Amino acid sequence: MQCLEHPVEKLRSILFSTRKDLIEAYEQYSQAEKRFLEGSLLPGSSVFTAITIHSNSDWIPAHPEAPQDFQSFYSNPYRSTPDPGHKTIYIQTIGCLTDGAGITEQYVEWLREYCEAFYYGLRVKLLPAVTVAATSCMFRVNSNTNNLQLHAGDLLTFLKKIKPKDAFCIVGITMIDLYPKDSWNFVFGQASLSEGMGVFSFARYDDNFYTHNYAGKLKRTLKLKPGDYSVFQDYYTPPINSTLLLRSCKTLTHEIGHIFGIKHCQWLQCVMQGSNHLEESDRRPLDLCPICLRKLQCAIGFKIADRYKALLQWIEKESSAHQSDKPTEAFQDYRQWLCKCLSILEATNK
Ligand SMILES: [Zn+2]
Ligand SMILES: [Zn+2]
Repeated sequence: MQCLEHPVEKLRSILFSTRKDLIEAYEQYSQAEKRFLEGSLLPGSSVFTAITIHSNSDWIPAHPEAPQDFQSFYSNPYRSTPDPGHKTIYIQTIGCLTDGAGITEQYVEWLREYCEAFYYGLRVKLLPAVTVAATSCMFRVNSNTNNLQLHAGDLLTFLKKIKPKDAFCIVGITMIDLYPKDSWNFVFGQASLSEGMGVFSFARYDDNFYTHNYAGKLKRTLKLKPGDYSVFQDYYTPPINSTLLLRSCKTLTHEIGHIFGIKHCQWLQCVMQGSNHLEESDRRPLDLCPICLRKLQCAIGFKIADRYKALLQWIEKESSAHQSDKPTEAFQDYRQWLCKCLSILEATNK
């Protein structure tokens, strides 16, 4: 295992930038926020730690990319920033996420509330769920894994047509696996950053996906007819549990982060780290490192403590509108982490 440690001075210049206006903008943070951010860069920080590389199949060795500091994020003319007429994130559910429409509705409401806390200050709205047939997308059976897959590009074409005028972005989510083109095995998701849209599948976050007896495998003898969507009517959906909810929250916020123009993080452990496989994705934390936090904060303009409080409230809040309890067991480490961050932010306030 390799530890990707950066000297504190380097991390400070990545956070502050070298541009005079951006250094001045940094001064707008409260004393407490500055002490929190700067303390987070120190090697002994109790809240942020160095990225570790476990093998050559991890994202960083497998996909060399130029790292993105705050200044290069800020200076990118193609990044998207919400404005008063475009400050809503829309979530479009495609097909059933879970067993039964009622549970899908509840699940997606938990995701909506989570995104609204994470992107604190923006509205997150659900569009009425649609069936796979309503998108008119192409589909196929994957010849290796024998599960159903939807054509990601066709889903983006559908999302483009229905994107509301006041949208900052629209994201499609589905429990059915995706493929980008015939020659590819699968894809976790696909996005068009310039058009503010993306589509993501949580199918491979089901613990059983890679097992031999995965219930989403179709019978080898089944013949699919193009345009006949009846095969989706009672297609397998995974059982809802805390791990699936955590993975879905993590993927969704990571992918929306890209729509803001935030690239893969190479500075400290962060939800914006790239991931090449499920084990690496599970290793990533749920939240942003101080550098990516500044990127998001400058795009939206929240108080850091308010955002952490909203996330904490999401974990602690009972489900109100529905009967079942939100499965938050997997979020308990994150709850403690948020409490620690808030205690630092509030202690330095005095
Ligand atoms: Zn990514
Ligand atoms: Zn980061």
